[in-house]
Amino acid sequence: MPGPTEVEALLADVPGLAPYVRRATLLRPKAGRPTALDSHVGGALLWPVDEPWPVCEGPHLTEVRERLSDADRETLRQIDRAVRERRAGRPYPAYELTPEEAELQSLIMDGASTLDAVARERVRWIGVPTAPGVPLVPVLQLHARDVPPLPLPGDTDVLQVLWCPRQHEDLLGQPHYAGWGPAVQVHHRRAAPLTASSPAREHAEDPYLPRPCVLEPLEVPDLPDPEELPAELLAEVEAWAHAHDAEYGRPLSCRAGWKAGGWPSWHATDPAPIGCPDCGARSELLLTVDSGHDPGLDIAGLGEMRLFGCPVDPGHPIQLNLQ
Ligand SMILES: [Zn+2]
Ligand SMILES: [Zn+2]
Repeated sequence: MPGPTEVEALLADVPGLAPYVRRATLLRPKAGRPTALDSHVGGALLWPVDEPWPVCEGPHLTEVRERLSDADRETLRQIDRAVRERRAGRPYPAYELTPEEAELQSLIMDGASTLDAVARERVRWIGVPTAPGVPLVPVLQLHARDVPPLPLPGDTDVLQVLWCPRQHEDLLGQPHYAGWGPAVQVHHRRAAPLTASSPAREHAEDPYLPRPCVLEPLEVPDLPDPEELPAELLAEVEAWAHAHDAEYGRPLSCRAGWKAGGWPSWHATDPAPIGCPDCGARSELLLTVDSGHDPGLDIAGLGEMRLFGCPVDPGHPIQLNLQ
């Protein structure tokens, strides 16, 4: 973890970076027993008495397996044998299929996402609606008092993130989602009138069910991904990093872990400019939900779910991105 001094030293030596500093609040979730009154991960949320708990009707991706015909299984056996023979006695080459074999295999795949070579089955993931719906699970509740820079619309002072813990693809209105994962819902509330709490949900070993955690928010300056800096400034920053036996990237920039605000890292894809669907303004990182550590999630292959918000009006729709 970089000391604040390292970031400060970089900022002192490269003053051109100053306009790129954003405030981030590292949420630092620690396994615990939060109540609905706290800012926390998982656990119960403050909830209006008369508001039904939300459900998601999908479509949800479900695995469908198809047994291959005897003829297809025989063809695959022949391909296997041919590959083994080509490979015999040779260290590495000839693993690849010939164009003819590749063509045969793709006919057998028939558009499925994978071929289970052991069970000799085609595996497809298809979107199926789920009635009467899957109850959403609480992911995060943040009070403005604990995360002062949090942008909230109107007179609201609580941000709640819930999601459907099933597998989704191509979420409606989410062109930057790009992957498989949970479907997120965000609520803005005023804490004062709320007396009820949502039912606490038993924690289970599920990649999309966060273990209840209390937070230890810490505000830090955050710097952008190298690819979001102009070339000249990046060269200056990299020269500084080189001179200090460091590298410009994480953890010096795009602080990792659960955080509010700050800069998104683009470690899995190229940076994607995300626009607000309502007003077209360039969206900014609102929240990062991370895999691993105490909450124990596994999103997008131990990756991150990022929520981008509109800098003009925090009431405009949230845009999601998996990384
Ligand atoms: Zn769902
Ligand atoms: Zn907007």
